Amino acid sequence: MIDKTPGEIIKAVQAAGVIGAGGGGFPTYIKLNTRVDTVIANGSECEPLLASDKTLLKENPGLVIQGLQYAMIATGAKTGFIAIKAHYKDIAAALTKVLPPDGSIRLHFLENYYPAGDEFLTVYDVTRRIIPEGGLPLHVGVMVSNVLSLAQVAHAVAGKPVTERPVTVAGSVKQPQVIIVPIGTPYKDLIDMAGGTLNSTDVIIDGGPMMGTIVTDLDQGIAKTTSGVIALPEDHFIVNMQRTTISRMVKKSKAACCQCFRCSDLCPRNLLGHALYPHMTMRTIDYNQSEPTEHITSAFLCSQCGVCELVACDFMMLSPRKVYAEYKKLLTARGIKNPHHRSDINIVPELEFRKVSLPTVIKKLGISQYVKNTPFSGYRNVARVRIPLDRHTGAPALSTVAPGQKVKIGDVIAASPPGKTGTIYHASITGTVTEIAGTWIEICG
Ligand code: SF4
Ligand code: SF4
Repeated sequence: MIDKTPGEIIKAVQAAGVIGAGGGGFPTYIKLNTRVDTVIANGSECEPLLASDKTLLKENPGLVIQGLQYAMIATGAKTGFIAIKAHYKDIAAALTKVLPPDGSIRLHFLENYYPAGDEFLTVYDVTRRIIPEGGLPLHVGVMVSNVLSLAQVAHAVAGKPVTERPVTVAGSVKQPQVIIVPIGTPYKDLIDMAGGTLNSTDVIIDGGPMMGTIVTDLDQGIAKTTSGVIALPEDHFIVNMQRTTISRMVKKSKAACCQCFRCSDLCPRNLLGHALYPHMTMRTIDYNQSEPTEHITSAFLCSQCGVCELVACDFMMLSPRKVYAEYKKLLTARGIKNPHHRSDINIVPELEFRKVSLPTVIKKLGISQYVKNTPFSGYRNVARVRIPLDRHTGAPALSTVAPGQKVKIGDVIAASPPGKTGTIYHASITGTVTEIAGTWIEICG
């Protein structure tokens, strides 16, 4: 029996600093402060190699369901779904045992494709509703939340702020595993916990192989959004693609883009009917178009999923994704807002046939040798954390503590300015604040 009001739940979630743990980092209390008819717990974890969400669902399915129930109360939703891949048989069995008997929450099984966890695709898969261009799940009456965020919602209502998270350490490491660590645990500590990298020059990625980004300083700490820490050889295809600069990419495109359309054919947002045509954008840059055309402003519709770059264009090795990221930055800097808002859209009829299966993605990425069992090794504490204050959607958080100050785990140490979208950060270990930089706070235990 849940005896919390929507207001109490939303307040607790805001105070606990819960944000989208799957990578988006959007403050969860804002999502909860809306009215929808359906809440989807996103447990698809569609990036290769990652296993943090699967581990949570296996180890603590009841916590996710409790968080989902709180989200349904807060938003007024009468229906809840937990979306998982159809082949997660053990997870389905664990969840089925603890589903509420009233039928308000059901399991939804997704095919094993990438990016099944993209909320636009998840919403379509579960409800057959299409989120408009530039829209949100809310616009079709749905809230989507990562399963870890929902577990954190349940903790928040019980008074426990976000101070830790499960992280998958995988790739070119000796002992891949899933570990729960304090937020701000240095990347190098996590690599050490996994027995170190296979090669001394391996590169570390924060996130999954498709959407993660290269870590430039291993002394820095993981964020609330860090689902994985992946090591890859320095000459790996993924590393090379990330390191290619935008100016080099544009030059390469002029010489190498053969207008084969594969990037548009496989683009998940294009398949949902959104006006996103990466091959046309590449053609536009090849002809040096300087003024925004619809194929440049369509950058606002790109999810940065990486299918066009790492799957569709793996032969020419061009990156519409990188081009869109750059255009989005430039357009925003010029004060240009997304002009694409069509809602009368239909999926491309070939959607079902053009989904890229996860085994294909793994083969294309050249990471088959890293697909291994990732056992859960429980909670590990660390002696020092560097908690990033800007890895969420909204204004960076500002420190509320001073160097030399003693803090206990769970104490508030930073918050986004009042009135601005953002979140709150808490000490993730007990100790002394040793350094405060612009975007992080260091605590030594
Ligand atoms: S897949 Fe590559 S080569 Fe083909 S149109 Fe797209 S960017 Fe050009
Ligand atoms: S990254 Fe590429 S495939 Fe993904 S949404 Fe953007 S354009 Fe489409």
